[in-house]
Amino acid sequence: MTRKIFLSILLTSFFAVIAAITMSTAVISSYSTQRAAEELENECAVISAAVIQGGLEYLEAVDTGTIRVEWLSAGGTILFDSENGRKEDNSKGDVLSCTESLPDGTVIRVSGEQKDFGSLMMMNIRPLLITFTTIILFALIAAIITARRIVRPVSSIDPDRPGYGRNYKELSPLIEKLRSQNRRVYRQTEELRYSRRQFSLITESMSEGIVVADPKAVILSCNSGAYKLLEAQPVTEGQSIFTLSQSEQFRHCIQNAMGGRKSECVLSTENGDRRIIASPASISDTLNGIVVFVLDVTEQQKLETMRREFTSNVSHELKTPLTTIYGIADMLANEMVRPEDVSTFGGDIRHEAQRLINLIGDIISLSKLDENSVPRQDEEIDLYELAEDVIARLSKSAAERNVTPYLMGEHVTVTGNLTIMEEMLGNLCDNAVKYNVPGGSYTVSISHVPTKAVITVRDTGIGIPEEHIDRIFERFYRADKSRSRKVSGTGLGLSIVKHGVMYHGGTIRAESGDEGTVFTVELPCHKTDTSK
Ligand code: ADP
Repeated sequence: MTRKIFLSILLTSFFAVIAAITMSTAVISSYSTQRAAEELENECAVISAAVIQGGLEYLEAVDTGTIRVEWLSAGGTILFDSENGRKEDNSKGDVLSCTESLPDGTVIRVSGEQKDFGSLMMMNIRPLLITFTTIILFALIAAIITARRIVRPVSSIDPDRPGYGRNYKELSPLIEKLRSQNRRVYRQTEELRYSRRQFSLITESMSEGIVVADPKAVILSCNSGAYKLLEAQPVTEGQSIFTLSQSEQFRHCIQNAMGGRKSECVLSTENGDRRIIASPASISDTLNGIVVFVLDVTEQQKLETMRREFTSNVSHELKTPLTTIYGIADMLANEMVRPEDVSTFGGDIRHEAQRLINLIGDIISLSKLDENSVPRQDEEIDLYELAEDVIARLSKSAAERNVTPYLMGEHVTVTGNLTIMEEMLGNLCDNAVKYNVPGGSYTVSISHVPTKAVITVRDTGIGIPEEHIDRIFERFYRADKSRSRKVSGTGLGLSIVKHGVMYHGGTIRAESGDEGTVFTVELPCHKTDTSK
């Protein structure tokens, strides 16, 4: 802009100077022509008067200078010509002449050369050039200063704060436009900031990980859940999503999403299993980015494994007694059993069938608790009375094994499901009998601490080796199989107990040593009854 203004001023000055010089030269030229004509007329009159008096002698004696004097007879014959004998003059220009008739009929003609416009210019070329150069120099300086002065207010407009400082009023519409645009940009920026903050607040409060990346896998947003679940160091903006995990599965998953295909995988990290769900974010076939969800699926994976193991264990546990029953039945059908052994084989069939019944009963109980399909029953249960019933029910098998039961404590009432509670306590006491030693004992004690009922089942039995104690609540887990095999069981009893305790909102723990095992169950309770 400065350059344009500068050139315009300079060109205008240039043409103005040219025009001024041309005009003034033309005016001077016309003025000098007029003066020359007047002077010629005067000369002519003076010379005519002198010729009347002095005749040819005067003319021959006088020096006419640059003007030409001719004396012509009435017939046109040249009587005198001041040019005769002079050198040829090559100067070019307009010739002015003036004639005066004398009384004797002769004519005096005086003529002189007048410089034309071009000659005049050429004659004065040096001063003209000096003047021209000086004016152009001044014009140059003036153009620079003026151009800068014009442009300064425009270039000094601060787009962020238009309207500050001095400005042309012609710039007002522009400044107003800038202001309204600034307001709009500010509003949009604020809205954007607000939605970013909201997005960040929402994603930061999520325990799941969420990562948004551009089509080149450069991270645009990543919440702390993602760093935590992937056990990655926080990355700076602009880093690749691949820095979050070195796993080949992760890379493959992301690359699939970048190729426009939704992809899932499960990564195993030190702290558990993570499901990665990478989805392409496309609008009309154009990939705009990818969104990656990271979910903690450790529990799900565990449950999945448990479910698989459960199915295979159930099949195995069902198959074993059925195979025995089938074998004995086959022998009986083929009359391969001696009559005196029939009752023994019949007893075996009954034993295996009982095992099947127990197993199926346990599976049904467990699956009911698992599916939360046990209806909520808020019965008042006196734990002490319940323990008396259970001990009485198991007295026969305890006597067979020579195990003495004891009951201690107080009447504590809890609210819950009697069937489940009975099954829980029954399983704990049954184990205390089964895994006891002949001549041993077990003690059920009922007590309470504020807001909690405490049931402990302590036995003097074989104990549980330390390495097994953490796993005894798993389904089908039987500690130290060589010992357990001698004792009938399904491996589901303690699982049922644990689920029953959880159903009632309580906790269970097991401790074991050389002197036997103690199971402690704590259940929420608000009531005790010491009157009984
Ligand atoms: P099971 O049908 O085998 O008794 P449980 O789930 O009730 O199944 O018990 C799981 C395992 O825990 C048992 O096989 C046994 O090895 C161990 N166990 C449970 N209770 C006791 C106990 N009181 N003393 C010693 N070992 C026990």
